Amino acid sequence: MTEDCLFCKIVSGEIPSYRVYEDEAVYAFLDINPASEGHTLVAPKKHFNSFTDLGAEDIAALFEAAKKVTLALEKAFSANGMNIGVNNGEVAGQEVPHVHVHVIPRKKGDGGRGIKSIVWTEPDTANLEGMAEKIRKAF
Ligand code: AMP
Ligand code: ZN
Repeated sequence: MTEDCLFCKIVSGEIPSYRVYEDEAVYAFLDINPASEGHTLVAPKKHFNSFTDLGAEDIAALFEAAKKVTLALEKAFSANGMNIGVNNGEVAGQEVPHVHVHVIPRKKGDGGRGIKSIVWTEPDTANLEGMAEKIRKAF
């Protein structure tokens, strides 16, 4: 528990939430300002600021839970699809610095778009091999 973290307070019950699922490692609850009906946030019970702070077991538990939530949302809202994603870092739209996965049910004709509608900076595609090499060297 990290003091003054909104989602730590939600996990501990200090701040109320609409819980939809929980297990030993993960707590899932409705987003208070949902992008679509059923929009759920899946968060590790332990506090981590960033996705890259998670260990392998934390990631496994988080995404196992996100999968269960996805299946439940499909059933509950007859969703045709789901956007499953993490805003990682302030510049990427992360408002609450406690890692969480958004699971957003989608319906045919809902007017929403896919993950590339988040950002489109038109990078140069003439040298994709150079781009790939730059990344490979960074591992
Ligand atoms: P992010 O921008 O990825 O950090 O997402 C934070 C999300 O938390 C936003 O979609 C908010 O609508 C949601 N949120 C903020 N406060 C609460 C709260 N008290 N209970 C549930 N969801 C919240
Ligand atoms: Zn926290």
